[in-house]
Amino acid sequence: MIIVDDVHKHFGGFHAVDGASLTIREGSITGLIGPNGAGKTTLFNVIAGVLEPTSGRVTMAGEDITGLPPHALFHKGLLRTFQIAHEFASMTVRENLMMVPGGQSGETLWNAWFRRGRIAAEERALAEKANEVLDFLTISHLADEKAGNLSGGQKKLLELGRTMMVDARIVFLDEVGAGVNRTLLNTIGDAILRLNAERGYTFVVIEHDMDFIGRLCEPVICMAEGRVLAEGTLEQIKSDERVIEAYLGT
Ligand code: ADP
Repeated sequence: MIIVDDVHKHFGGFHAVDGASLTIREGSITGLIGPNGAGKTTLFNVIAGVLEPTSGRVTMAGEDITGLPPHALFHKGLLRTFQIAHEFASMTVRENLMMVPGGQSGETLWNAWFRRGRIAAEERALAEKANEVLDFLTISHLADEKAGNLSGGQKKLLELGRTMMVDARIVFLDEVGAGVNRTLLNTIGDAILRLNAERGYTFVVIEHDMDFIGRLCEPVICMAEGRVLAEGTLEQIKSDERVIEAYLGT
């Protein structure tokens, strides 16, 4: 689904991504691991259009998407979540979900004045969809809570929920487990597995929690010093000499 071909991203003289090449299979939950500073987040940002690569190519389903901005990728079904959740703190959880789909009638002044019926009908449909998403994620009880009051893990679930408000095809999750308790991490893991199995989402997951990676991801890709070091099952990766050396060297 995604092919990353010899991508470089330099910050001044520093090569954060230094010739990374990898393939993300459609329908997979691919894990991206590696020591701190390996270039994982930078590579995510290049693929998701947040950063332009210094050189190299990214294709999605055969189409060159290198350097396309995030909103263009969003319309192609490529979404990323952030290590730090980006919720609208003073809006409710349901409203946060309802915000996601673009092109809503209420966005234009003309419609806001003269097409109130259409806007109301659209909002009812969006609220219903948001309720379904909350149900799927087992957080219906939080629907009317201000998003800013959620715990770190609940915010991660909300981010996952935002991807379900549109037709996502591939979702990039950055450190979904950071600061999340074990119970919620399991709920997040269950939601990812179900989205993958039932809705055909492809996932790419950066995560440090190896239990989480082992439960969800195949294949696992290990990066170090801006490049891909190894790819395989978590067991294969863990016993790879180069991987062990990269982790010990940091
Ligand atoms: P990882 O996600 O694997 O921990 P990152 O992609 O966050 O690695 O970072 C790779 C390297 O690039 C790090 O050494 C980091 O300090 C550096 N880096 C990341 N973003 C920038 C930036 N905007 N400017 C300069 N250096 C950066």
